[in-house]
Amino acid sequence: MRHDETLSSLLDDAKAIAPRIVDLRRRIHAEPELGLDNPATRAKIVDEIADLGLDVMLHEKSSGIVAVLRGERPGRRFLLRGDMDALPMPEETNLEFRSRFEDRMHACGHDAHVAMLAGAARILSARRDQLAGEVVFMFQPGEELHGGADVMLDEGMPEVDGAFALHVAPQIPTGMIGTKPGPFMASYDDFEVEVVGRGGHASMPHDCIDPIPIACEIVSALQSFVTRRIPATDPGVLTVTQLHSGTANNVIADSAEIRGTMRALSDKTRARMIEGLPRIVEGIARTHDAQARVEIISGYPVVVNDDDFEEFARAVAAELLGEQAILSLPVPVMGAEDFSYVLHRTPGAMMLLGVRPPGESHPAPCHSSRMMLDEEAMPLGAALHASVAARFLAV
Ligand SMILES: [Zn+2]
Ligand SMILES: [Zn+2]
Repeated sequence: MRHDETLSSLLDDAKAIAPRIVDLRRRIHAEPELGLDNPATRAKIVDEIADLGLDVMLHEKSSGIVAVLRGERPGRRFLLRGDMDALPMPEETNLEFRSRFEDRMHACGHDAHVAMLAGAARILSARRDQLAGEVVFMFQPGEELHGGADVMLDEGMPEVDGAFALHVAPQIPTGMIGTKPGPFMASYDDFEVEVVGRGGHASMPHDCIDPIPIACEIVSALQSFVTRRIPATDPGVLTVTQLHSGTANNVIADSAEIRGTMRALSDKTRARMIEGLPRIVEGIARTHDAQARVEIISGYPVVVNDDDFEEFARAVAAELLGEQAILSLPVPVMGAEDFSYVLHRTPGAMMLLGVRPPGESHPAPCHSSRMMLDEEAMPLGAALHASVAARFLAV
């Protein structure tokens, strides 16, 4: 579209196809799939975008879909992403389209993400003549713990000049967009430690190497490490979530297990924590003649919004939904998101789409078995996707 054209027509287009966006979301919601293999979800999306004249490529290492819309003229290339997987948990809503499975639920709103993305594809494909360049629609499985974005990038994605994604936020009212430049969501890495001592009779600890006090010392030292060595201005979080050892009141165990997770808001702090944890664990174990096995399970990098791109996308959102719709987030979200892999390769941004149902004062958050979203927000999300792409590729 031309720079001087208003975005209100895109919002009208989105509202006109809202029933179809909502219908796709409900069908995906009723049949959630987990991890990297989401064949039924993929089939529904492929069917929904079949008439749009896109070049559709189906990935093999995952159920990912790469659909490309070619504009009338050559130009830049822009990526829009929606994730498609659900969570292994029961659904406790009374929705008529609630999950058909007892142990799976779309509790992170990814059903809405892909439905809005398919809606954006429909809106933009009708305006192909107003686009210079290409829009790459990335329908991505395996966001929850599987790093599906990385898997798709690894299998092959077109090089792009910018990228954008939305995540629903039940805490933010419908009609509003949460955004901030710079660090937007945290990195995460999990750790598993085994402190190996030497068990024996509880009355004779001097003949044993008791792993329990050593494990306790490690837990304390890790907390000191975060507060004393990680700058408060570039924070990190380290939480021990599991501590297991022993089987009886009169037996010293052979080993103790410590597990937990680390979060950071910069690559530097993330690296510092990954380097520091084994050093502290092994040092304390050695002091007490014990041994320690440390495993760091790599999670996702930090989601960093490009400052210039965020300013651009924020202006598009303000133009589309009004200045009052913009909620400047004072702090990043400490959750993690694998869109970070895309943003590590190309400047772009992720924003939060308000989906808090009207009159709901205590909305259930994402990952709650009672999480619900206001479907009135869905055409707004589809229109925002389409608008950011249309402005980025304006002729
Ligand atoms: Zn999630
Ligand atoms: Zn999510």
